[in-house]
Amino acid sequence: MIAVLGLLCAGAAAITTSAAEPQSRPIETVLREPLPPERLSCRSDARQIEIAGPTFAYAIDRRSGAVLRLEARRGDRKVVEFREAADLRIDQYRLNGPATKGSTEIIENTPALVVLKTLGELGAGKTGSRPLPYELRSTFYNDGVLVCEVTLRPAENIVLREGISHRLSASGEWTHYVHKNRLRYDGDSPEANPPLPPAGKRIGMKTPTSCLQVFSPAAGLAMFTDAGAIHVAPPGLETASLEVVPVEEGRPPAVLMAQHLVRIGSGSEPYVLEAGKQFHFRLGWSVAPCRLPHVRQADLRMFVWIGDANNPYPTDAEIDEVARLGFTLFQMHRLGNPGEPRPPHGELARVIQRVHQSGMLFIWTDSTNLMYSNPETRRRHADGTWTRWEGTSYGGRYRAAMDPYCDLEAVCIGAPHGLADYRLGLLEKMFDQYDVDGLYLDDNYALPACRHGELHGHPREPYDCLIELHEMNWRRRQAVHRRCPHAVLIDHCGRGILLPVICDFDVQLFGEGRNFDTLQGFWDFFCSFRNLPAQGCMWPGDGEDVRCPTEMAYHFDLLTGGGQYCYLDWRLWPKKFPYARGVTESEGLYLRAYNLAQYYFGFYESTVFPFATSGGIFSTASRDTFATIYRNNVWGDYLIAIANRSAETRSSGLRIHATAPLGLSSNQVYTIWDVHERSLVSGGPDKLAAMLGEAEISPRHLNLYYLRPRNGETPCHLWGGKRIAERWDAAGRRLSVDLHAPPALEDLVVFWTGNRTVRRVLVNGQPGAFAVDPGGPMVFGKVRLTAPNTKVELECSSDGKWGLPTGELQAHEISKVVHASAIASSGKITGSAVRQPDRIEVDSLYTGYSPDAISDTKAWDEHGAALAGRVLGNADTSWASAENDEAHWITLCWNQPQTIRCADIWWAAQSMWPVRFKLQYWDAQQNTFADVPSVAWQGVNTQHSAVDFPPVCTTRLRLIQDAAGGGAGRPRIMFVQEFRADPE
Ligand SMILES: [Zn+2]
Repeated sequence: MIAVLGLLCAGAAAITTSAAEPQSRPIETVLREPLPPERLSCRSDARQIEIAGPTFAYAIDRRSGAVLRLEARRGDRKVVEFREAADLRIDQYRLNGPATKGSTEIIENTPALVVLKTLGELGAGKTGSRPLPYELRSTFYNDGVLVCEVTLRPAENIVLREGISHRLSASGEWTHYVHKNRLRYDGDSPEANPPLPPAGKRIGMKTPTSCLQVFSPAAGLAMFTDAGAIHVAPPGLETASLEVVPVEEGRPPAVLMAQHLVRIGSGSEPYVLEAGKQFHFRLGWSVAPCRLPHVRQADLRMFVWIGDANNPYPTDAEIDEVARLGFTLFQMHRLGNPGEPRPPHGELARVIQRVHQSGMLFIWTDSTNLMYSNPETRRRHADGTWTRWEGTSYGGRYRAAMDPYCDLEAVCIGAPHGLADYRLGLLEKMFDQYDVDGLYLDDNYALPACRHGELHGHPREPYDCLIELHEMNWRRRQAVHRRCPHAVLIDHCGRGILLPVICDFDVQLFGEGRNFDTLQGFWDFFCSFRNLPAQGCMWPGDGEDVRCPTEMAYHFDLLTGGGQYCYLDWRLWPKKFPYARGVTESEGLYLRAYNLAQYYFGFYESTVFPFATSGGIFSTASRDTFATIYRNNVWGDYLIAIANRSAETRSSGLRIHATAPLGLSSNQVYTIWDVHERSLVSGGPDKLAAMLGEAEISPRHLNLYYLRPRNGETPCHLWGGKRIAERWDAAGRRLSVDLHAPPALEDLVVFWTGNRTVRRVLVNGQPGAFAVDPGGPMVFGKVRLTAPNTKVELECSSDGKWGLPTGELQAHEISKVVHASAIASSGKITGSAVRQPDRIEVDSLYTGYSPDAISDTKAWDEHGAALAGRVLGNADTSWASAENDEAHWITLCWNQPQTIRCADIWWAAQSMWPVRFKLQYWDAQQNTFADVPSVAWQGVNTQHSAVDFPPVCTTRLRLIQDAAGGGAGRPRIMFVQEFRADPE
């Protein structure tokens, strides 16, 4: 049975039909299963050479060396396909042209790498020009990347009047594009995430092109070069372009992409390839999917230990606590170079052992930089050879204030002189000594960060080292998997979501909460990693002023596939590590509620139906609500996540349009368990849709529902612990369940009892403290779960009598917090509950008025009611700006960053209600004020304006009235009686 389950794939809607009892594997076992093979195979005939990987295949023309075909598959579907051969054009010369003559041989052929060499002459067709001798060295990597080194060897001067360009045409399941230039680590327009233009439309880029990519969560294709726009005359011509080609309806979009290496406009000075001088450049391709998925993908929940100088290593108790929150990866962030752990000696071995005992994998942070104190670094400084490796990121050196041990020196990613070999040697040293399960690579950025271009042999300056970065990442992946076939490779890519940079990693940490915008935007951009396939990872924020609050992060996480929210010691133990910003009291509660739900349900056994691609199967009717459904393929049960992203209570309006794709059966009766409210209902699929459609969801909350098919009136396990096996012995009237959980986790375990009554409940053979809630009917009790499994047995009575005390099942703690905050956001906060700003600043004052009135808590309960004895608009109730042509503003300032998601303004006299106002917050990273997300200029038509927005974490909130944007009475004055925000 175990072997059969091993074949189930998270990406396929496989459904077990076996009559045998379902059985799950514990997550620890799944995490340690080797990755699916990542091997290349190479076939050839007289005309073509085909190099195929696990999901992709390239075909090469032996005559020219041109890439004739590239395709990639996701399961049965072809999701990337070349429409014609890729081409290199050098004025009238074309690599794929009929006049090109040459031959290609295979010079290296291994499962990880295939290298081809082509020697030939580019013909100029009918133009009469002399042939141009060339050589190609094409390296195919098992991660789907192809790098082709091109050397032109002109025998006589070749005068170029158009230029050199690299072009391809392909169709595939993509929706967006990104263009990287050599000067940035991410895209040209990192905040915009541009969708593909409409068919027939063409987009031109003018920055020094490095990588041009089309992508979606289903597929991706990138082209890149180390010689982007090396000569453009006149300046300002396009350096790259993307055009969407019209195709038949229902077919995937086709694109024409081009990158210009040399570009000459008409009338400009030609570019000369000099006789006898080699002209060298590289072209590359990267494709997704490039490997098969591992079932553990959505269960890679990472915890990060940063620590500080006094607490460099976690205690055993801290490791256990992390495991009990449902994390599966434990990363140590400031451990030193791989293989060279920080003191005290022996601590690392203890930590790794404990991490493994608690069921997690141990991850070591590698940096793109090297430890300052490392002997090799010191030696190179002493003998003057450090410049051979030196880079400039972080200004050349990074030191952490709370931990002097963390002292890194920047190296250049593309530096030759043995740097890559040295780093790989450190990895070997690490695996020789320690039982680690993978690596986290910090700052995996293709960023120009070098001032030794000549010494390092960079092809041009500035140069982003993208090709060298890929080579290093690929070599690391091969080395790590040789030592640990289940190793997890994680990188920090920020917004640099470029296939050749990220394709060698199983998890992409894209960081800072400030990057998140809308749910659809999150899906389009940050969920595009799944095309590789890889897992996403959201950084919860350490010292950043702006972050995505934990409860919101779980909206993004659970609506898009799960397992993406990571966490760190600085947030979990803020008293011990007071370095993280904006830690709220309820964070831990959300963490426990949402992480353990994922752990219990078992995403590694499940198929996800995300909101973004399941519109034909189900949808929500209420504005601002979204649903995603997970189906567990071993148990045939479901987890339904429904989020309300508005500031008001909403019903979900969930509609199921097609039951078959979900595997729901109209003849089946289901039990629905509200995971947070801990309440239960039963019914068929129709009833389910009705029930869930009417479900009330608190403002900005995400409800979780668990659905289990009923087997008649047979008792069954509902929630608490990961169910590994379950057996009903009808003759013996006994239900027996094996539950798996992190060691010593204490949690509520709940059973539905059907038409049975229960005499007693045994936990590992001993009577457990269970009670009965006759409403369900359910029995429930707190159980201390043990490793490897906890056996819980229900002994049903023969006389129809309950042997258990009656009890009331309480809602999950998270539910109380949610209800409390729902009441708070409905506006019933009293003055004392609101955190006062530390300071109020205004742009100006009307004579006699003071900013003190703006946040005058004593008056708050009087707003909207008669202002006894006080006159609205007088200086004791209101503030007024000077009367001039400037914009006017009020800024609330706090000494510490606050998480703010709404603000209230009470305006003064109606004739002076503004026609244009907006809110801004201080963006510390950009060192400027930015508009609060999703809210633009607005006008006023009631005395009280309540403004909701996606949360920001900031020290300042500003209310601005546009220049001359005041009320009709006196448009050049701003008049406010109260402005307040309610930080969390
Ligand atoms: Zn360099």
